[in-house]
Amino acid sequence: MSYSFLFKYIIIGDTAVGKSCLLLQFTDKRFRSDHDLTIGVEFGAKAILVNGKAIHLQIWDTAGQESFRSITRAYYRGAVGALLVFDMTRRSSFASLHKWLEETRNNGNPEMVILLVANKCDLDSERTVTREEALEFAEANQLQYIETSAKTGVNVEEAFTIVGREIVNRI
Ligand code: GDP
Repeated sequence: MSYSFLFKYIIIGDTAVGKSCLLLQFTDKRFRSDHDLTIGVEFGAKAILVNGKAIHLQIWDTAGQESFRSITRAYYRGAVGALLVFDMTRRSSFASLHKWLEETRNNGNPEMVILLVANKCDLDSERTVTREEALEFAEANQLQYIETSAKTGVNVEEAFTIVGREIVNRI
């Protein structure tokens, strides 16, 4: 008998770090350059293959709610994977990571697999957070780390897959 998994993921991090764009690039292989501030949670869905098994991902995006600090427990409930995103060209989004981790650990499943994502690697020449300090933060908090570009698509599929692989390995 063949069966598949359904995993809920959430995408967290400051406004404008590229969360919606990562989701759109992953599900539709498209990049939207305008910043369309929508209110309310948006979803994405896509299947990935891990060890030859189809994993259906249901991905929740905060869609602007983060600015109002109104992300509810419902957002975190049942999530088994998270992409914790910052913008490598904006230090304040890196400084916020502690806050996001705390929120996630207070509201979410303690077993949640969290991947630290440094987005906008196409703007590497403008980066203000080095790879070394990001890695240091990741290690200190037992997170895996990846650098992505929602614009060019670099490592986007990989980011969502790394989380799925890690969850499967823990089952
Ligand atoms: P969110 O608020 O975290 O969901 O951020 P958005 O996905 O709306 O993106 C915020 C802004 O950053 C938009 O203007 C995007 O076009 C831009 N953006 C997102 N990802 C990238 C990226 O990888 N590279 C570049 N250069 N811009 C990006």
